[in-house]
Amino acid sequence: MKISRTVSITSSRSRSNRVAKGIITLLWVAAQGFMVSVPALANNERNTLSYSQLIEKLEGNSDDIERVEVDPAQQVARVWLKGQDKNKPPQEVNLFEANPELIAKLRDSGVDYEIRKTADNSALVGLMANLFIFMLLLGGLLLILRRSANAPGGPGQAMNFGKSRARFQMEAKTGVTFDDVAGIEEAKEELQEVVTFLKKPEKFTAVGARIPKGVLLIGPPGTGKTLLAKAIAGEAGVPFFSISGSEFVEMFVGVGASRVRDLFKKAKENAPCIVFIDEIDAVGRQRGAGIGGGNDEREQTLNQLLTEMDGFEGNTGVIIIAATNRPDVLDSALLRPGRFDRQVTVDPPSYKGRLQILEVHARNKKLDTEVSLEGIARRTPGFAGADLANLLNEAAILTARRRKDEIGMQEIDDAIDRITIGLSLTPLLDSKKKRLIAYHEVGHALLMTLLKNSDPLNKVTIIPRSGGVGGFAQQAFNEEMIDSGLYTKAWMMDRITMSLGGRAAEDVVFGPSEITAGASGDIKAVAELAREMVTRYGMSDLGLVAFEGAGSEVFLGRSLMPRSEYSEEVATQIDNQVREIAKHCYSEAVHLIREHRPLVDRLVDLLLDQETIEGDQFRQLVAEYTGEPVQAYTKETVPTTT
Ligand code: ADP
Ligand code: ZN
Ligand code: MG
Repeated sequence: MKISRTVSITSSRSRSNRVAKGIITLLWVAAQGFMVSVPALANNERNTLSYSQLIEKLEGNSDDIERVEVDPAQQVARVWLKGQDKNKPPQEVNLFEANPELIAKLRDSGVDYEIRKTADNSALVGLMANLFIFMLLLGGLLLILRRSANAPGGPGQAMNFGKSRARFQMEAKTGVTFDDVAGIEEAKEELQEVVTFLKKPEKFTAVGARIPKGVLLIGPPGTGKTLLAKAIAGEAGVPFFSISGSEFVEMFVGVGASRVRDLFKKAKENAPCIVFIDEIDAVGRQRGAGIGGGNDEREQTLNQLLTEMDGFEGNTGVIIIAATNRPDVLDSALLRPGRFDRQVTVDPPSYKGRLQILEVHARNKKLDTEVSLEGIARRTPGFAGADLANLLNEAAILTARRRKDEIGMQEIDDAIDRITIGLSLTPLLDSKKKRLIAYHEVGHALLMTLLKNSDPLNKVTIIPRSGGVGGFAQQAFNEEMIDSGLYTKAWMMDRITMSLGGRAAEDVVFGPSEITAGASGDIKAVAELAREMVTRYGMSDLGLVAFEGAGSEVFLGRSLMPRSEYSEEVATQIDNQVREIAKHCYSEAVHLIREHRPLVDRLVDLLLDQETIEGDQFRQLVAEYTGEPVQAYTKETVPTTT
């Protein structure tokens, strides 16, 4: 169950205004903090004596006092006591105005005293503070001005202040080897060649082969592209220069291009080496595309990049590796031979890959013998390398927090939930809300168990999670089906029915006027799946027609308007079909819940009591009620949420 949160979308103009206000407030706070901190510091670090204490001392046993220094400018008297550590600062007494009384007392007591006028630097400090604040404000204003100046149509060129500070990083030794990269064997094999190019270029140049200039790594985030690039540098023992594409695209016009020049200059000086450009799609987008025409700055940068890549002759020993997860938006000029002519796809790991990645990251971790990496790998399809690394790390953190010596299965389980669903929060107190969530989740869980083609329940819980999740029913997925992607129509229908089970339970138990917004996530998922059934899989009365190709999503790189491939009339028919599927499944869900109402109530009571029911226990209870035998499921499958 997902309680939806309101997200307000503001226009970019008002956002930048807010940024401006934010900067000013920030400066103001900083300035105040600064002013307040000057006297505070003074008081804390010096030992003081009160005025009356000093007078008392002078009147009584003035033998204590070694020497007194009166400083009218700073309005203090410094008192050195007898036997005081010479290295310690004197006691300070704050004075008011001139003190004839003190001077008289000093003279009477016969203490060694001195009136000294130190240069009055308090005024100077004040002035400096003010100046500092002024500079900060001025800097902030300039920043805002420049930002707005660079907005489309603004006088961007006028504010151009040219030379870049190099923002790329250089690592002489990355320390990463191919051993640290697992599960993407094909990519590694292809890149092995690049290592040889860097190590023994003669081998290739001797037979007249041209060494490739650029390699483009294509793959979703977290699959190890950056790691792979570092491993190449590490294996070849060459320096690694890296910069992110977004760093080229600055608010200062022309800086991007000059950064490219700088980067290539440095790289050539350090050849052989690797230049790694992360997120190249940030600069390398199709030119002249996007909303409101092209972005001059980005195009200049891209042109500079192309020029540089053409400019240096092959065989200089500089190999550029770029990474992107959006190859479709890249400018075709980048992909021309002689530039990024090698393209290596880095896919999300399969089961075997996940296992190997887990093995790499388990090397430096203490795992309990009960933990099977195979089991984890089986339960984590769709996890990229970075997710798996994160998973083991989270589990290690949980282990430390629980003061255990070794990572156990419980920690792994909890870490998986934490990553896929969110942090678990403290359970709700008994309330109507908690009951409602329990009914919603039991609705899902019961249908997962009753429907013949549904994936079985792994567990159902009403312990809330961060991100507004009030509770969830988790399924154990069928790995074969996920890997092959061969979902049946029956499976899809049952999935839709199960997804609507939460809402159906709310409806049946609390009445149609008490249903909540908590089912919004379920309904969205249902709408998506039902639409795909109609428009892509030909599973409706409209027959075997594909109305939409896969991946027809809109992005701003190439075209803004999706091309509509069917008429208004067909669109209406599609909508009707989608609605028909949802309606059919919903009535089935309602029917099943009505039929099992006493069981639902019993399960809800148990869930309220236990807060979590494991799949096996749940199935046992359902079997007792229906009189049908329980099916056994292994836990080593894939969990997900509803
Ligand atoms: P990308 O650049 O593709 O987004 P990264 O290379 O930055 O992904 O991966 C982030 C982290 O995830 C790496 O530092 C590493 O710890 C882990 N990781 C990702 N892929 C792999 C892999 N194939 N083998 C081992 N660790 C990996
Ligand atoms: Zn739900
Ligand atoms: Mg990366």
